[in-house]
Amino acid sequence: MCNLAQICVNEYIANACKGEEKMVQLDLEKLNKEYSDKSPEDIVRFVVENIGIEKVALASSLSIEDQVLTDILLKINPKVRVFFLDTGRHFQQTYDLMEETMHRYGFHYEVYAPESKELEQAVSKYGPNFFYESVELRKKCCEIRKVNPLKRVLSTVDAWICGLRREQSLTRQELNIFEWDGLHSIYKINPIVFWSEDRVWEYIKKYNIPYNSLYSKGFRSIGCQPCTRAVRPGEDVRSGRWWWEDPDKKECGLHARVGQV
Ligand code: SF4
Repeated sequence: MCNLAQICVNEYIANACKGEEKMVQLDLEKLNKEYSDKSPEDIVRFVVENIGIEKVALASSLSIEDQVLTDILLKINPKVRVFFLDTGRHFQQTYDLMEETMHRYGFHYEVYAPESKELEQAVSKYGPNFFYESVELRKKCCEIRKVNPLKRVLSTVDAWICGLRREQSLTRQELNIFEWDGLHSIYKINPIVFWSEDRVWEYIKKYNIPYNSLYSKGFRSIGCQPCTRAVRPGEDVRSGRWWWEDPDKKECGLHARVGQV
């Protein structure tokens, strides 16, 4: 971790110490070296034990990566928090998978939805498909449906766990296992950041984990229905997301990196 990020961590922890809650201080540089060849199970166990079960949550979009992490986390502790951002525009197959996963593990997702007033105003003003009109309006839609609900859930934790992988896109090449999320002032943990897509599938098949049926139809990264399409063999994993935009702009704001380098 660079000096700037360490200063951000220290400043935040110093401020947190003035209040009632005290955030556990992690040495990210040391942890990233120590856990670089450890399993996701070891990483997750460390996080849950050191930060506390109530202060950690897995962000699940029901992707294959998030299904792997859901399996790992719930096997370690069935009380772990798993949240889902219900944008209202997901594929029916995603909702079906959500229900199947709930039954398989006997747990409930924490579901966060857009603020109704904000959404009503945007759709009234711009129409139901306004995300196609410009990058700015697409980002506005993601902000209302994803980023703002995410802020609400992340204000309740000290660390969030994500299924991001380096090879997924140009914008994810620098990711590490343990990170400081300067945007939300909490830790961000990426236990399978070095995994390949093949390795994810091996885990899915080995443990017979339910996955989205759209993967069998050429989809490789699945988000909202209007903004996701199948990709051709050889195309980038995330090329089916917001396919009309430049590759270096293809993030929805959920994984923006502020206060990090
Ligand atoms: S992915 Fe598309 S539909 Fe979903 S929140 Fe973003 S712009 Fe809106």
